[in-house]
Formats: sequence, structure tokens, C-alpha cells
Amino acid sequence: MGKVLSANLGYPRIGEKREWKKALEQFWAGKISKETFLDTVKNLRLSYLKKQKDIGVDLIPVGDFSLYDHVLDTAVLFGLIPDRFKSDEKEISLETYFSIARGSKNFEASEMTKWFNTNYHYIVPEISNETKPYLTENRLLNLFDEAKKELGIVTKPVIVGPVTLLKLSKGYEPDHFNALLDSLLPLYVQVFQELKEAGAKWVQIDEPILVKEQSKEDLAAFTKAYRFIKNGVPDLKLLLQTYFEAINDYKDVIQLPVDGIGLDFVYGKETNLASLKAYGFPEDKVLAVGVVDGRNIWKTDLKATLTELQTLLSSVKDHGNLWITPSSSLLHVPVTLSNETALDPILLNGLSFADQKLSEVVTLAEGLNEGETAIDGTLQKNSADLQTLQQSEHRNNKEVQKEIDLLDEELPTRPGSYKLRRQIQADAFNLPPLPTTTIGSFPQTKEVRQARRNWRRGEWSEERYEQFIKDETAKWIQIQEDLGIDVLVHGEFERNDMVEYFGEKLNGFAFTRFGWVQSYGSRCVKPPLIFGDVSWQKPMTVKESAYAQSLTNKPVKGMLTGPVTIYNWSFVRDDISQGDVFNQIALALKKEVHALEEADIRMIQVDEPALREGLPLKEDKKAGYLHDAVYSFRLATSFVNNDTQIHTHMCYSEFDEIIDTIDALDTDVISIEAARSHGEIISTFEDFEYKKGIGLGVYDIHSPRIPSVEEMKSYAERALKVLDPNIVWINPDCGLKTRRPEETIPALKNMVEAANEVRKEL
Ligand code: GLN
Ligand code: ZN
Repeated sequence: MGKVLSANLGYPRIGEKREWKKALEQFWAGKISKETFLDTVKNLRLSYLKKQKDIGVDLIPVGDFSLYDHVLDTAVLFGLIPDRFKSDEKEISLETYFSIARGSKNFEASEMTKWFNTNYHYIVPEISNETKPYLTENRLLNLFDEAKKELGIVTKPVIVGPVTLLKLSKGYEPDHFNALLDSLLPLYVQVFQELKEAGAKWVQIDEPILVKEQSKEDLAAFTKAYRFIKNGVPDLKLLLQTYFEAINDYKDVIQLPVDGIGLDFVYGKETNLASLKAYGFPEDKVLAVGVVDGRNIWKTDLKATLTELQTLLSSVKDHGNLWITPSSSLLHVPVTLSNETALDPILLNGLSFADQKLSEVVTLAEGLNEGETAIDGTLQKNSADLQTLQQSEHRNNKEVQKEIDLLDEELPTRPGSYKLRRQIQADAFNLPPLPTTTIGSFPQTKEVRQARRNWRRGEWSEERYEQFIKDETAKWIQIQEDLGIDVLVHGEFERNDMVEYFGEKLNGFAFTRFGWVQSYGSRCVKPPLIFGDVSWQKPMTVKESAYAQSLTNKPVKGMLTGPVTIYNWSFVRDDISQGDVFNQIALALKKEVHALEEADIRMIQVDEPALREGLPLKEDKKAGYLHDAVYSFRLATSFVNNDTQIHTHMCYSEFDEIIDTIDALDTDVISIEAARSHGEIISTFEDFEYKKGIGLGVYDIHSPRIPSVEEMKSYAERALKVLDPNIVWINPDCGLKTRRPEETIPALKNMVEAANEVRKEL
């Protein structure tokens, strides 16, 4: 009888203390030589492999490590690079690689987009109908050889599969898909053949596209691709890996000529289990089961998982046909808990980062191989830790739970209809047509960041810091007055980050020291942890907003981050439903909205830039998510008086799937981007016949460029062709915290001028 094996699907690149990020940025800044850089990253790469080996992982991946992004790596492997970066050389240099990702002096970078429903962004391969793929350099072979030679580990190379790669690429017409696939397949075979000759036993081919709906043609493409590869390298074992959801086409997928299939039993648990039960699993294949959550940070309930694993074990022929894995690459979780010295032990003992997750995988395999008694000690501690966290006061706030229990099914609703509110607000605020405003933040200059650091380190007193924030606020209120902006903001100088700021002031949140994850390139984020019941302690924003309002007769918008965005940009407890967490946050925000209203702040903006990105991958889960999102937003905002104006802000360019949701939020004004899509985004609102206030983001704040009056006018005019001028506002497309004052002030001056000129044309 064989043994159940432990396998990893991918390990974080960034290093325990973001050493990888630092090396990259030093190299880009010209502070270290290419040799030093390559040496540093090689050492990091090897140390990660060594660590996985020491933890006891049986099958360790290579090829998951990247200098930027694994999709870009795969594209470069096959020479699939944009024409503008092509040269006569067959090989693609490191410099070109980074230019594709980051842009160069002469050429624009490739587009970057979200990797499925994660917060990781990949570089979108650009290919055309005519692209002829070729093998540049067998990177996987180099990595395989390196691990074997330096550490004696026979690794499992990982690659993005051909169908997923092509489906995620852009620039070719759909009817060229098959021809492009045909030209890629021999190259996959060549890569694999060379790996086989170098001693590889298994390769992991990631085809996460399989968790999305597949057409008949798509499935035929899979069959063709894997037949071709299998025939090309019959002796190499192929693991077809999926993640982030269940696969829809289980029956077809299990018939593909591969040697193993990896399924997600965390995020796709129910459906994958049901498929397994209904159709069984082929005797001759390995089933790789993702039972340890690769995307969240909680300890796995080992006992419960072992029970589930027994069922899974009974679906395969032999122990040797079962592998235990994380549910996805561990790219999406922080590296290790070992440097977290400041966390509450109750929480700390309930957490599991990448290294700890791999230990869990190893323990589970051991439990199946040796019996539960062999891992008894670990099981006991695991249960006790989870129980302690679950029973702690953090997760048993009776007041919060009562408030949640008391919530009605029915959507919370404003006292007056939009039509009525509009009239009341028009009288109350007396704004000109096309009112101008900004999105919230003003430049976070070196001085602002330094002041915050001084205060955090205790070098500045509370008073000194507060005075600094006040002065900065006053300065920018004056600037806004001078510019002639109609609705002002306080500038958010007191905020480091729009989620962290609130997390630090609400109960139920915690912050790690090194809990970083890669977002894109060298850019990492450190999401807050929502680990307990969320509740409001005291006003979080009233002081700053009220001070700003005291300086001007124009309205100043209160500025909050919405429940869904706070949720989507955090690691969140999974013992209660998503809807309940949304609502806990919403109830806390409701108290803040109330406090702002009491302080006579008459316009309140609740930002939801992350609402769309939380949309589930599966069609049948979308409606539930959107309903819960609308409910919580309205819970936080809809109780206000009719003469309080509720704004929201979302800065992305796809509203098609959520336009009903936007309408259902029932905000008085929503500000959106309109510059990057050259005003095109408005068509969604037009088709929907959207009737409430819309702020057009006519100034693309992501670029240091100062847009001209003419340019901004043209975006507004484009929109006014189809929108009722009475609902339109003019604003930048997002907050200005990353811009410099020298860019911000002239750009806003042009924006106000553009609004003035368009007003004359009305
Ligand atoms: N109010 C926030 C700001 O201006 C909104 C940021 C965002 O949408 N990401 O910074
Ligand atoms: Zn924004």
C-alpha cells in the first residue's frame, strides 16, 4: 500500500521580512548590481525550498517563485511578449521582463489585472492572431536543476497551463484560439520532455480557468491539449491543478489523460464533494485534495479535516493515490507567524500562515498514514487553541450579537424617496449645476508621513500631532476655497490607509507586524485581521470633519470606508457568515454616521471601491453577495434624515454586472472614474437610465500628468450627451493622496475651470 503524500502548490515569494521586495526595489533603483540582485534572489529561493523540506513536505514546487509574476514568467517562457518589447534576440532579458511589467522610458507597461477573485494582480499577456510562440529559455528546467544540485530535492515544477494562459491573454480574436493553442502545445511538451530527462517525476499544471463556466469548445480544447501533452511525454506524470472554487465540468475533467487532479475542498467544498460522490474518481489517478485554506489565515480544524479526509480516502484506490495540499498557492497568505511577537496569544494560537499551513498539511498526511494516535498531541493542542479563540470574549460580544439577531429581513430604507430627498437637498445646499468636489484625500506628503511616524513612535505628543493635522486641514480648506470647489473635504491627513484607520479604532480587529502579502510586483499589503465581533467604541472621524466644517461655509463631506470594502481588504474570520460580518461592520459605521450627523456634517461619503472585486466567481453565488453588500451599506447609511446627503465612491471601470446594485445602494451621489475610459463608462449608467447623482471622475489621478481644461471638458461633455445635467457632479476619479501638491492644485484648477465652461453650455 502506498502512502498519502503532502504537497505544496506554491510558496510566498516575498520573504519573512519582505527581503524579496527590498532586493527588487534596490535593483530597480540601481542601488545594487544585477549580480548582487540575482544572487540575493537565488538565496531566497533556495531558503524557501529548504524550509519546505524541513517542514516535511513531500512534493515541493519550483517555478512558483517569480521575480514579478508567474503569468508573466509563463508568457516570457513562450516568447509571448508585446511587439513593442520585441528585439532580435531570442532570449528575453531581465530588463525587458521588468519593462513589460513596469513600463519603460519609451513603452507602456502591459495591463495588470486581478488573479481570479484574489487580491493578487497578474500581467495580462498581450498576443495577436499572428503571434508565433517559441521557447525562450527553459526556466523551469533551470529551477529544477538548481534545487536538485544545491539541495538534493527532486521538486515538482509548476506552470500555468496552456488553456488558462491563452484565456487570460488578450489581443487575439477568439477564432484564433485553437491555432494559438496548437502552436503552444509542442512547446509545453518540449519543456516537459527536458524536465523528464533531468529527472522530474511530476509536473503541476495550473488550470484555474476550470472553475469558471466552460463551453463545449473549451472542454474540447482541454481534451486536445492534454492528449497532445500526454502523447508527447508519456512518462512524465501530470497533475492538473484547480483552485479558488469547485470545477463545473467534473465528469469531463476526470477523463482527461492526466495522472492526477487537484481540487479545492475549501472554497469549492460542497460542489466538489458532490461531484466526487456522484461520479466517483478514476482508479488510475491521484486525487490532490486542497483541504488547508490557502487564502485565509486561520488554523485548520485538524480533527474535522481528518474526518473529511477519510471520506476522500475512500474515493481513491489506495493511500498512494491521495495527496494533501493547501487549497491554492500560499502566495495569498503571509509567510510565517514566527516573527509575530506582539499579538494577543489567544489570537496568535488561532492563526496559521504559510509555514504553519504546510505543517498542517504534513500532519494531516501523517494522521492518515500512521493513524490519529500518532499525531494525538498536535490534535489536542489544535482543538484547544481553536476552542479558546472561539470561546474568547472577542467572539462573544453579546451586545453585537443581539443587534445582529434583531436585524430585519427587509432592506433598511431612507425615510424619503430619492425624488423627495433631491428636492430637500437642493434647497438645503443650494449648489450650482455640475457641482465640483474631490474624493477625500489630499497629498500625503513626506511631512505628513513623517509627522505620523513621529507621533506613532512617541516622539511627538498627541497635541503636537493633532495641531499638525489641524494646520494641514486648514491649509487645504483654504486651497479648496481659493480654487472655487463647491463641496469640500478635510483631506484625510490623519489616515494611513482607508481600512487600517478604521480597523485600529473598532473592536474586533488586530494588526500583525509582518503579515504582508504580495498584491502586484513588489507591492505588498498588510491586511487587518477581523478576528472578533466588530463594534464601535467612540467617534472616529467627527473631530477632523467638524474642525474642517468650522472653517468654511461650504459643505464638507464626512468620509468613511464602507463595510464591504473593509471586509474585502481584510483577512476575515470564517466562523460566521460573510453577511454577518458585513452587518457587524455596518452597525459600527452606522453609529459613526449618526455621530457625524449629530455634529452637523450634512454630506457623508461612504467609500466602497472594493465592492465589485468581492464578487464571487460562481454565478449562483453572486446574487447573495450583492444582496448582503446592499443590505449592509443601507444599514449603515439609510437611517439619516432626508437633508443629509449620502455619497459613495467606486473607482473602477466595470459596472455592467453591478449597476442594479449601485442603484440599490440608494445613495444620493456616486462618484466614479470617467477619465481612463474616456467617458465610455457612462454608457452603463445610460443604458440603465440611472437617475441619481453621479460624480464624473474627469481627472485621472493615477498619472502625474496635469490634464488640460479641454480634456476634462470633453469627458464631461461626452457624459452630458446622455445624462441629465441635473444629476452630474465633477470630480477627480479617486483620492489624491499619492499625488504631489504641485500636481494636484493646477489639475484641480483646470477641473474647476472645465466645470465652469461646461456650465455655460448648459
Ligand atoms: N476617500 C478615499 C481617498 O480619497 C477613497 C480612496 C479609494 O477609493 N481607494 O483616498
Ligand atoms: Zn477611488
